[in-house]
Amino acid sequence: MRSNNIFHYHLGLTVFSFFPAVIVFLTTHQWYWAAATVVLVNILGLFRTGMFLAISFHVLKPMAGILGGEGFAAEEMVISLGSDKTLRKLGGSVPAGRILLLLPHCLQRHDCDRRITFNPYNCIRCGGCPVGSLLDLADRTGVKIAIATGGTLARRHIRELRPLAVVAVACPRDLGQGMLDARPVPVAGVENTRPAGDCLDTQVDILTVEETISRLTSAT
Ligand code: SF4
Repeated sequence: MRSNNIFHYHLGLTVFSFFPAVIVFLTTHQWYWAAATVVLVNILGLFRTGMFLAISFHVLKPMAGILGGEGFAAEEMVISLGSDKTLRKLGGSVPAGRILLLLPHCLQRHDCDRRITFNPYNCIRCGGCPVGSLLDLADRTGVKIAIATGGTLARRHIRELRPLAVVAVACPRDLGQGMLDARPVPVAGVENTRPAGDCLDTQVDILTVEETISRLTSAT
């Protein structure tokens, strides 16, 4: 799966590099300089900065239909490689209090009347959805927790809470784009599951969230 994402990443960079390669060819009339341009872009891409991930994402997005992954190959690429980079770079070094656990509103059971968007602690932890267990996890680990109804509120939470790293839960579509929007704040993503369909009573594996937080906070 990871190798698939790496392949997609370099595919995006290769398609992108055709444009400068054509200019180089028209300027030099030497095909090998054009080929060197493609290779150079891919070598620079080994650093996997947010900028290169964003370039590859925007090139892959229009090709999503032929890449498989239920049309989310570009998002999966950002989630997998972006999360890897965050965990590799910051693993074991982030104080728990500087981590933001950012959750989507669709985790809340649809018929729950507790208003948790602006204060997650309005949840009474009845066990009807994963929000209560995630609050328990936040209490246990000391991370901050926030709930967003969309990208605008997610960015506002990040701006106001100023985390050093974010552990974000969302569907592939929101998570992939959201990780790019959060730059330069590093994000490790955990995909939710959607047994009742998109945006309704979604679920998340609490152990995966806990493990992601633990990889950021504890040296392994
Ligand atoms: S755990 Fe219960 S109270 Fe909390 S958000 Fe879910 S359904 Fe509502």
